[in-house]
Amino acid sequence: MANRTGPVLVIGGGIGGLATALALAKKGYRSQVLEQAHDFKEIGAGIQLGPNVFKMFSLLGLLDDIHRLATFPENLIMMDCVTAKEVTRIPLGREFLDRFQFPYALIHRADLLNVFLKACQQSGLITLDTSRKVTALTDHGDRVSVSTNEGPTYEGVALVGADGLWSTIRSLLLHDGNPRISGHIAYRAVLPTEEVPERLRWQTMAFWAGEKTHLVIYPIRGGELTNLVAVFHSKRYEEGWDSFGDPAELHERFAGTCEEVRTMLSKIESWRMWVLCDREPVKCWTRGRVALLGDAAHPMLQYLAQGACMAVEDAVCLANQLEQAGGDFERAFQAYNQMRYLRTARAQLTARLYGEVYHASGVAREVRNQVLSQRTPQQAYDGLAWIYDGIEGTPPRSS
Ligand SMILES: Cc1cc2nc3c(=O)[nH]c(=O)nc-3n(C[C@H](O)[C@H](O)[C@H](O)COP(=O)(O)OP(=O)(O)OC[C@H]3O[C@@H](n4cnc5c(N)ncnc54)[C@H](O)[C@@H]3O)c2cc1C
Repeated sequence: MANRTGPVLVIGGGIGGLATALALAKKGYRSQVLEQAHDFKEIGAGIQLGPNVFKMFSLLGLLDDIHRLATFPENLIMMDCVTAKEVTRIPLGREFLDRFQFPYALIHRADLLNVFLKACQQSGLITLDTSRKVTALTDHGDRVSVSTNEGPTYEGVALVGADGLWSTIRSLLLHDGNPRISGHIAYRAVLPTEEVPERLRWQTMAFWAGEKTHLVIYPIRGGELTNLVAVFHSKRYEEGWDSFGDPAELHERFAGTCEEVRTMLSKIESWRMWVLCDREPVKCWTRGRVALLGDAAHPMLQYLAQGACMAVEDAVCLANQLEQAGGDFERAFQAYNQMRYLRTARAQLTARLYGEVYHASGVAREVRNQVLSQRTPQQAYDGLAWIYDGIEGTPPRSS
C-alpha cells in the first residue's frame, strides 16, 4: 500500500515548484515547499504565456487572477532587424481564440509568481519554507528525506525536484553534469513605457530578428511597462542568472541593426545578463519516489517562450497521474515521465532550431524572410498547434 501520510517535498519555489504544490493540493495531497532564497520571488522581467498554459490555469482555478494582471497583445510580429521591415505576423485576436480556445498573453514574472504564491498560501495543504537550500536526499523506499544547508532535515512521502536549470536534485538523481552553455547571452530590462518613443509603442509582441542577434519588445502591466530582451552570440561563458550586463558589448553586437532597434537599446542604462543554457533531452528523469520537473527535468532555450509553460503543464500532469495511480507515487511518477518526455524534448529541440532561424545571417536570413513572409495565419496556427493545443487535464476534485 502506498505511503500517503506525509507531505510531498517540493524542492524549489519558482513557477514550477509552486504550480506543483498547487496542482497536488487540488487533488488533495499535502506538500512542503523548500526554497533556497529568502523570499519567493521572480526577476523583474516579462514572460510570454501561450494558450496551452492558460488551459492549465483554468484547471488550477487561476484564470481570473491571471486575466486581471496580463496584457493581451494583438499580434506576434517578426521584424527584420537590418531592414526594419515586417517579415511576418501571427494575429492573436478572435481567429486565434477560436482556434486554440485560450489567449496568448504577456505578464510580469513577479505578478505570475504571486498568483501561484497567493493560491498556495490560501491552501490548507501547502507549507512554504524559504531559506532552505536542499543539499542531499535519501529515498528510503517508503519515504524520502532531505538535508538542508541551514540545518533542518525534512521527510516526505515523495519528492519533486523543481529546482531549476542548476538543479541539485538532478545532479543527485542523474549525475549527468552541468547544463550545455549555448553561447547565446540575453540582456533583460524593463522600462516605463512613457520613455519609449510613441512610434515604437506597439500593442504587440515584437520580435526584431537580426544576424546573430535579436531583440524582443513587448508591453506588460497593461502597457505601463515595456519589457526588453536583447540576445546575441558571445563567448562570455559565465554561469549565472543575475549578473549585470555590459552595455558597450551590447551596442557593439547590435551596431549593424536598424535605427528603431538601436533607439530602444539606448533607452536602457542598466541590463541584467543571462547566459542561456539547455540540456540534451533525456528519456528518464524519475527514480522511485523522486521526480524532476520544469527546468530541472528539461531546460530549454527561450526561443519558443515555453519553459515556464511546460513546467506548469508538468505540474498538472504529475498531479493527474498521482490521482489516477491512487497515490502510488512510483507508478504515478513513471507515468508522468512517460507522458511528458517526448513533448518536452520536442520543445527543447525546436527551441534550438528557432534560435538558428531567428539569428540567421546572409542568404539564410533572406531565405527565412522569404519563407516566413509567405506564411498565412492559418499555416502559422497549424505549425504551432502541437504546442498551443496543450495537453489533456482533469479538473480538480477539491479547491
Ligand atoms: C531570457 C529568458 C526568457 C524566457 N521567456 C520565457 C517565456 O516567455 N515563456 C516561458 O514559458 N518561459 C520562458 N523562459 C523560461 C522560464 O523562465 C523557465 O523555464 C522557468 O522559469 C522554469 O521554472 P522552474 O520553476 O522550473 O525553475 P526556476 O524558475 O529556476 O525555479 C527554481 C527555484 O528553485 C530554487 N532552488 C534552486 N536550487 C535549490 C535548492 N538546492 N534547494 C531549494 N531551492 C532551490 C531557486 O531559487 C528557484 O526559486 C525564459 C527564460 C529565459 C532565460
